[in-house]
Amino acid sequence: MRVLVLADHDAGLLAPATARIVQGATALGAIDLLVVGDDIAAIAQSAAALAGVAKVLTGKGSLAADGLAARLAALAGDYDYVVASAGSVGKDVMPRLAALLDVMPVTDIVTILGPTRFERPIYAGNAVQTVTDNQPRHILTLRASAFRPAATGNTADIEALDSDIASLVTLLANHRTLSDTPDLATAQIVVGGGVALGSAENFQLIEKLAKRLGAAVGATRAAVDAGYAPNDWQIGQTGKIIAPDLYIAIGISGALQHLAGIQGAKKIVAINTDAEAPLVKLADVALIGDLFETIPQLIAELDKRGVTH
Ligand SMILES: Cc1cc2nc3c(=O)[nH]c(=O)nc-3n(C[C@H](O)[C@H](O)[C@H](O)COP(=O)(O)OP(=O)(O)OC[C@H]3O[C@@H](n4cnc5c(N)ncnc54)[C@H](O)[C@@H]3O)c2cc1C
Repeated sequence: MRVLVLADHDAGLLAPATARIVQGATALGAIDLLVVGDDIAAIAQSAAALAGVAKVLTGKGSLAADGLAARLAALAGDYDYVVASAGSVGKDVMPRLAALLDVMPVTDIVTILGPTRFERPIYAGNAVQTVTDNQPRHILTLRASAFRPAATGNTADIEALDSDIASLVTLLANHRTLSDTPDLATAQIVVGGGVALGSAENFQLIEKLAKRLGAAVGATRAAVDAGYAPNDWQIGQTGKIIAPDLYIAIGISGALQHLAGIQGAKKIVAINTDAEAPLVKLADVALIGDLFETIPQLIAELDKRGVTH
């Protein structure tokens, strides 16, 4: 079976999610990895190093969803599977590709049970659906957080595609949120803050703690809606899905829509004034107390022990 995976990249770097999608897709067959964009030589090298990749295909051209979908459609005839991450790019591109090919996509896969059988969460993660996809070609998105990253050290061939695919969309500008914290969707430790923080200034307490732990920063939708945290920090049903080894949830009640995004977390620590909050009950460790007292104490203790990243 032949698999074409669409690589995600940003700011000149291969997105960490791609290594996880490659690892997941190795269960389906030999993988060719498609990297599209300008100045992608270094990204292609990183892509070629991923274990399980047979060949890296590079193409110049637009990163707009319609252009990417058209390029994938042009290549799809050679493949049994076309796979992307269930992140913002995959969610934009893959339904368009499926429409172009007149195929039903299978999205948000968390487990590959066999060549045509997949598991995906439904009802905001409250149930897991098993899907059999008997179509001749499979258009899939995989949740990166459900798979471990592929190993590196491979030296796959890199082949440049000669055709440039036109797009009806012109990208005018990218507005980037600068951050030196790890990628939220693939971080090993995430510190999340809720609306209890009370202001964007107070949210810096969460960022401070995260920095000490080398963790990514997350937020609830209530905190994002209140303007305390940027949109791309939102965790949950309508935000990012995370699966860290450790999730520290601070001043977060644990609404169902938030829990939908943290089901893959291996250990949860909740810090909350309310011992009855759903997230406190779900947590492996709960600290009942006022975050404005406990978090500075925690940071001071980490400083005392010289824990910093
Ligand atoms: C269609 C839809 C989609 C949604 N999608 C999402 C989503 O993707 N992600 C998401 O997060 N939400 C989502 N929501 C919103 C969700 O329902 C909740 O409103 C939200 O998660 C609550 O955020 P919170 O925990 O910050 O606030 P609250 O529920 O108000 O909880 C605040 C918590 O802080 C505690 N607290 C207060 N003061 C302190 C203190 N000083 N120290 C310690 N603890 C304190 C309180 O005891 C409480 O438990 C969605 C809602 C809808 C309708």
